[in-house]
Amino acid sequence: MSRFLNPRLSKLKAYTPGEQPQDKRYIKLNTNESPYPPSPVVIDAVKRARVEELRLYSDPEGKVLKKKLAELYGLGSENVFISNGSDDILNFAFMAFAGEGIGARFPDITYSFYKVFADLHGVLYETVPLAEDFSIRPEDYYGTGALTVIANPNAPTGIALTREQIREVLESNPDRVVVIDEAYVDFGAESSVPLIQEYPNLLVVMTYSKSRALAGARLGIALASPELIADLELLKYSTNPYNVNQLTMDIGCAAVDSDGYFRDICRKIIETREDTVRALVELGFRVLPSKTNFLFITREGLNGKDFYLALKERGILVRHFARPRIENFVRVTVGTPEEMEAFLAAAKEIIQTA
Ligand SMILES: *Cc1c(COP(=O)(O)O)cnc(C)c1O
Repeated sequence: MSRFLNPRLSKLKAYTPGEQPQDKRYIKLNTNESPYPPSPVVIDAVKRARVEELRLYSDPEGKVLKKKLAELYGLGSENVFISNGSDDILNFAFMAFAGEGIGARFPDITYSFYKVFADLHGVLYETVPLAEDFSIRPEDYYGTGALTVIANPNAPTGIALTREQIREVLESNPDRVVVIDEAYVDFGAESSVPLIQEYPNLLVVMTYSKSRALAGARLGIALASPELIADLELLKYSTNPYNVNQLTMDIGCAAVDSDGYFRDICRKIIETREDTVRALVELGFRVLPSKTNFLFITREGLNGKDFYLALKERGILVRHFARPRIENFVRVTVGTPEEMEAFLAAAKEIIQTA
């Protein structure tokens, strides 16, 4: 940190992304990317992209993509916001809907970026411990008087709340925004999108990084009442009006056009997940009930950090969080069946020699 940095930021601890090793080839099960390529329609759109057109700015209103997304989710364009990855939207949500005496509340064990955004914007926040079984207790978010942020399903636990449980949280917070981060919703949880018409305080955030296999393209979307979308637009036009590049907009349109492909790969990943759960339980692991494309696992007598390192030695990357209560867990992305077989073989070897 230089002596020039604004003192307000001197204590800021940045988010640590999962490793993206550029040297060695790993079986990469550490950042919840899709093991499958984007749809053939997307690949074709990139091949046909008119690169000369990149001399022009992208459409700041993102009209074409917004219209497609609106149709896909049964809403109007005025209910849709698009951005350069969903982290950008979460950043805006903390900037827009908290601060100046409005705090934030989220679980103690959740997406660790929430804390960073709160600190970045000087938002005072309260974290609520998860229940003993690592689930979120919706009652803990009744009438928070704060910006409520819930990842549903939660990360890194993988556990989901039902739409009715989310409704109760919305119902009890009519004067504050409730953010539902649905980064993993396509892997089997109930989306809160159908509640948008009823609750003007609901902001649903989604990403095309995981289930749509487009992490490198950076496309995040927010769905909400027109008033909340207008607030996000205000911040976008005050920071970066061209926040989504033209190639990514074309890619997004192609992704929406290939909904069938997307459903197929989600189905495959869910199947592989369930097969992996059975195998892990057989090996004596405790596996939290996952509605995502990852598994949060632990095993009696197995040190989480050591397990992560032993897997890495064997060419398999998973994610370990050195945080109280979860330090003996690792988070394993669901890959292809072949990748999961390699992971299970390595896990078996490690527990036999431990
Ligand atoms: C991956 C992830 C995001 C961010 O996704 P982007 O790639 O920035 O769109 C947001 N929330 C959760 C819970 C995530 O796991």
